[in-house]
Amino acid sequence: MFERGIEIKTPAQIESMRRAGRVVASTLEVLRSSAVAGVTTAELDAIAHDHIRSQGATSNFLGYHGFTGVICTSVNDQVVHGIPGTRVLRDGDIISIDCGAIVDGWHGDAATTVAIGEVPDEVTELMRVTEEALWRGIAAAHLGGRVSDISHAVETTVDAAGDYGIVEGYTGHGIGSAMHQPPNVPNYGKPGRGPKLVKGLALAVEPMVTLGSPDTRTLADDWTVVTTDGSWAAHYEHTFTLTDAGAWVLTAIDGGAARLAELGVPYGGH
Ligand code: MG
Ligand code: MG
Repeated sequence: MFERGIEIKTPAQIESMRRAGRVVASTLEVLRSSAVAGVTTAELDAIAHDHIRSQGATSNFLGYHGFTGVICTSVNDQVVHGIPGTRVLRDGDIISIDCGAIVDGWHGDAATTVAIGEVPDEVTELMRVTEEALWRGIAAAHLGGRVSDISHAVETTVDAAGDYGIVEGYTGHGIGSAMHQPPNVPNYGKPGRGPKLVKGLALAVEPMVTLGSPDTRTLADDWTVVTTDGSWAAHYEHTFTLTDAGAWVLTAIDGGAARLAELGVPYGGH
């Protein structure tokens, strides 16, 4: 059911999204251990494809506006939407892996950034800050609040952590019977704005943070988004919903229970 363009899911539909989210979570777990020096991004894509199929799910990325991968693989100064291919991961790289899956027509979408071997401390910190911003964004969401409460929490978390660039040209999004739905979930902005956070709404929150300028451009492949100044970027994403009990992170293996508890936020899953 859509209200003012926003899809409101029934509890049964959210359960299907949780099944899709579990597939995404387990795929990213497999990829996290597979992403080592010497592996190509195409090999990671094949691993993801096999795993998603083995779970009885299908990929929402493959064929999306002609995208040729099951995952997006974005290395170092690549921010998002990198196409899996012949690139070999090397010691000292970081890679954002973005993955989605469909179960019974319902979508999940999540991303993580993985360090290949040893990376400089400032890169480790970039990754930590970006993931922290994601979770603080989710933690800021509550029934009756507004979408930009999430945006504001992401921005203030990053700004408080140091001199980082927050990419503004790409945002989180609503998700449900399609991967990308209204509303957009920007990674910056004043709180208290935008659509109301209600039961049955599901959102993908995905901060993209750089060590330099937030400006990006798209490569000639029409997909890969890179920083204009060559600075490295991190990207984390989860799909979550709100229940009467609290927040439920549909693409986290534990539903977000542990991380939300650390942040003092009630867990709304089961
Ligand atoms: Mg994604
Ligand atoms: Mg997304």
